Amino acid sequence: MKGFAMKKIGEVGWIEKEKPKCGPLDALVRPLALAPCTSDIHTVYEGALGEREDLILGHEAVGEIVEVGELVKDFKVGDKVLVPAITPDWSSLEAQRGYAMHSGGMLGGWKFSNIKDGVFAEYFHVNDADANLALLPEGIDPAVGTMLSDMVPTGLHGAELAEIGFGEDVLVVGIGPVGLMAVAGSALKGAARILAVGTRPNCVKVAKEYGATDIISYKDGPIEEQVMKLTNGKGVDKVILAGGGIETFKTAVKVIKPGGIVANINYLGSGDYIEIPRLDWGVGMGHIKIVGGLMPAGRMRIERLANLVLTNRLDPSKLITHKFEGFENLDKAFDLMYKKPKDLIKPVVLI
Ligand code: NDP
Ligand code: ZN
Repeated sequence: MKGFAMKKIGEVGWIEKEKPKCGPLDALVRPLALAPCTSDIHTVYEGALGEREDLILGHEAVGEIVEVGELVKDFKVGDKVLVPAITPDWSSLEAQRGYAMHSGGMLGGWKFSNIKDGVFAEYFHVNDADANLALLPEGIDPAVGTMLSDMVPTGLHGAELAEIGFGEDVLVVGIGPVGLMAVAGSALKGAARILAVGTRPNCVKVAKEYGATDIISYKDGPIEEQVMKLTNGKGVDKVILAGGGIETFKTAVKVIKPGGIVANINYLGSGDYIEIPRLDWGVGMGHIKIVGGLMPAGRMRIERLANLVLTNRLDPSKLITHKFEGFENLDKAFDLMYKKPKDLIKPVVLI
């Protein structure tokens, strides 16, 4: 079968591979809609996970089941399914601790385009199909469904990690598709003021639609100075990091109030250490929490997020700015994700 792969650090291309085999609890799926992710870009061009040879990329898909293992109970051939980016082993000890995304070790639930071939292939393999897949609901089109693989769960997880409460002021650093879902998640969780950092005009427009009250450009001077000015020197209750690099932690700690939470959902592609400014961190006693997390997954989670879309509480279709037809155009969508033109939020490929 054909797949679009990372050939080595810095190089992508089409390759031929054997069709994956379906174990007793697994499913084989053919894609109906696919979306590239900024994480694929970090993996290929920054070598953020280390070397990978001929690894098929991609972890955002809606597909149709072509084969199921003999122990799969709830899915059958022909079912159209939402496929989460993270597909944990649900019997692992990490899952029993409540951190299924780390099943088998740190980030171990992140299999596609990391430790096994991803979804940018004519067929892809899903482990633990009953626990990981969800039926594509009538009323969600496959293109929008791909936003439920990663963008919606990751962005909303930022708002969960930040434990946003009614009336709190939140700073969201980065308003690519992930940050935009963090803005929407903050609004859903009852934030009052939402300050959002980014510059691409489409992202700025959509950020306001999702609930951002103030837009900050990191190109107009230090973010912390702009935040302190906008909040009359008070700062914010919570910060969600969804863009920029390791330097954003310094910014976050500088603008957060005592007792605040800095929640990172950004994939830090480079830099060895993160600096925390000692004084701003209350010389170690400021009750400022710094957390970060990979998106939670599983069938129940993805079904619940789909319910937000079905009940019109969340409209992820605004993220899709570019659509391609045909598997063979996946490389064009990927290239767009790499180059990030000003009008891009997220490209989708319909198969
Ligand atoms: P984008 O590249 O589309 O967006 C990044 C955002 O950060 C843009 O708004 C950009 O501004 C802004 N930005 C760039 N540089 C700076 C800076 N120096 N200071 C502040 N803001 C800056 O990325 P995505 O939204 O697609 O993804 C965001 C991150 O989330 C990625 O690192 C991705 O890998 C990660 N991710 C994490 C997952 C998880 O489970 N935790 C899952 C999926 C993705 P501008 O408008 O100028 O471009
Ligand atoms: Zn991703």
